[in-house]
Amino acid sequence: MEELFVEWPHKKSTISQVKLPGGYEVDLLRDDNLHPQISGNKWRKLKYNVLKADQKGYYQILTYGGAFSNHIAATAAAGKEFGFKTIGVIRGEYDPNNPTLQFAEKCGMHLHFVSRSAYREKDSKFFRSDLRKEFGPFFNVPEGGANFEGIQGCQEIWKDIDKEYDYVIVPCGTCSTMAGLILGNPNPDRTKVVGIPVLNVNDGLQADLNQKLFQVLYDWELVEEYKDDYLIFPDFHLGGYAKITSELKDFVETFKSENAIQLDYIYNGKMMFALSELIGNEIPENSKVLAVHTGGVQGNEGLRYMGKLQ
Ligand SMILES: *Cc1c(COP(=O)(O)O)cnc(C)c1O
Repeated sequence: MEELFVEWPHKKSTISQVKLPGGYEVDLLRDDNLHPQISGNKWRKLKYNVLKADQKGYYQILTYGGAFSNHIAATAAAGKEFGFKTIGVIRGEYDPNNPTLQFAEKCGMHLHFVSRSAYREKDSKFFRSDLRKEFGPFFNVPEGGANFEGIQGCQEIWKDIDKEYDYVIVPCGTCSTMAGLILGNPNPDRTKVVGIPVLNVNDGLQADLNQKLFQVLYDWELVEEYKDDYLIFPDFHLGGYAKITSELKDFVETFKSENAIQLDYIYNGKMMFALSELIGNEIPENSKVLAVHTGGVQGNEGLRYMGKLQ
């Protein structure tokens, strides 16, 4: 087997000043610009996964996602860039016109489709051993890159934050990015981490976040001690995951025309929309706020393909 020696390039995110529709100004950490295809927080989350796969001598990386997943697109691109074969276990059926799947295949990813019910079992022993029989040795990365290595990479977001803020705000799916921000926060008395869930999960999100914190801290009491370091505002999912309202469309378009920055609709559109509603209410008007643009703009293509966007 060919030896791999991966070097993960160091890239520093920049900060843009942006204006929210409504007039407030906040800073935006441009993780969306870290890499054109390994976008945003997926760049952060894949870093230690790829390095570990390399260290352990694997030449294949296998991961999981929906047919429009940013994580699938990013893993495929990372495989191409760093010389790994990639396998994507995809929920649902093949659609040759799906732009995300087209991109992943172009990067060389092998797509393995499974039914929705089989996908629910994807983390079980049986499912994994079937995959091993079919594909041989591979480094397993969970859906969304939501493991210890993923959280470890997200802690490094702080390295690129060189000013002091009252709030650092981020959108939440699995909560790994938020967990990384909470765990890496150099001054939690000064700066609170704010999470905006994009799914309709309510209490489930706190449980997910706790579980992510536990993966690193390994102590439930310690997890509780981090409670004062963050806030979650669960009412901005706008109907649920990938639900796109006309209000959200207007918001993302106005934001783009005022700042020349494209947001994705599933994550950052909802996060910035939430922020514009929170400032002057739960977030005092004169606060210093940094929003993290977690990338994912490739997903807009998928929404267009599904007819959810023009
Ligand atoms: C995957 C993704 C998220 C969700 O991150 P989690 O760490 O799973 O909470 C947020 N924003 C974008 C653009 C994403 O692609």
